[in-house]
Amino acid sequence: MNWAELGFAYLPTEQRYVSNYKNGAWDEGGLTTDATVTISECAGVLQYSQSVFEGLKAYTTKDGRIVCFRPDLNASRFVDSAKRLHIPEVPVEKFLDAIKQTVKANAAYVPPYGTGATLYIRPYVFGSSAVIGVKPAEEYQFRVFCTPVGPYFKDGVKPLTLRVSDYDRAAPHGTGNIKAGLNYAMSLHASVTAHEEGYDENMFLDPATHTKVEETGGANFLFVTKDGVVVTPKSDSILPSITRRSLVYVAEHYLGMKVEEREVPFSEVADMAECGLCGTAAVICPVGKIVDHGKEIYLPSGMEKMGPVTQKLYDLLTGIQMGTVEAPEGWIYEICK
Ligand SMILES: *Cc1c(COP(=O)(O)O)cnc(C)c1O
Repeated sequence: MNWAELGFAYLPTEQRYVSNYKNGAWDEGGLTTDATVTISECAGVLQYSQSVFEGLKAYTTKDGRIVCFRPDLNASRFVDSAKRLHIPEVPVEKFLDAIKQTVKANAAYVPPYGTGATLYIRPYVFGSSAVIGVKPAEEYQFRVFCTPVGPYFKDGVKPLTLRVSDYDRAAPHGTGNIKAGLNYAMSLHASVTAHEEGYDENMFLDPATHTKVEETGGANFLFVTKDGVVVTPKSDSILPSITRRSLVYVAEHYLGMKVEEREVPFSEVADMAECGLCGTAAVICPVGKIVDHGKEIYLPSGMEKMGPVTQKLYDLLTGIQMGTVEAPEGWIYEICK
């Protein structure tokens, strides 16, 4: 395998995990080599989009261990997401066991240390039984598969250009704070048209007033002010990114920076020194330019590289994940040696 050349695409591996929920309980669950799902044509997920998911990675550390980064937070977010769509929750222990089994069984697909590649893990749960009148399904399937993915900054770091979207990704008191495929379905049109017009991503503003920064649809924002304060938007309709929460902790406890989680008026963005997008895929990806209906905002960090704080945060968090920087207690979950 040429690890460094891998992109971000589905490449099926040998084994995946499946567990079924029936008559009010989850079965034992286990591994299978069958990569296809067979369900009713009228399954709850197909008709009424009853499905939530997670995304995390397995890494090979410098000393050769295979580890995951804070999977307990994915497990608890998966519970929160499921509850909101009336899907029976997968207990935290069951979730972690499924991750462990899946990664262990596919250990040959975990890229070696130093390649920049990782094993992306996708847990998801969906209504599998037939539903035609609108109500929750009675049966569910929980699955975990994984796929090796290449280094995010394969061709070097290229700061992104965003546009302020005219569409909303979430409604006030809606589902913006859970990891549901339905949030992505409704952002596809905004995303495709942004790409067609030459932008990398959309910046979504708060759905009620369109005056405050929310997120991009797949990543949370992190700003650095000219006074060196790390600022991240607080809102009930953004997805609580584990990467963003971890970066904020690193800024505070490793770099001794002041951190604020608060509402961020869009009008403040033009005064920021750095802007980054946080998520499992990239850790943090710098933003160079934001376009608001023709009005261009250039971040002082420029279009060539990460800003200095963004770079430090990136180096520290990836170091923690790869075992070259000491991790806070409980952040690294060992799968096997
Ligand atoms: C998954 C996701 C993120 C990033 O979360 P991480 O836990 O850091 O990977 C951000 N926004 C949305 C909408 C997401 O679905």
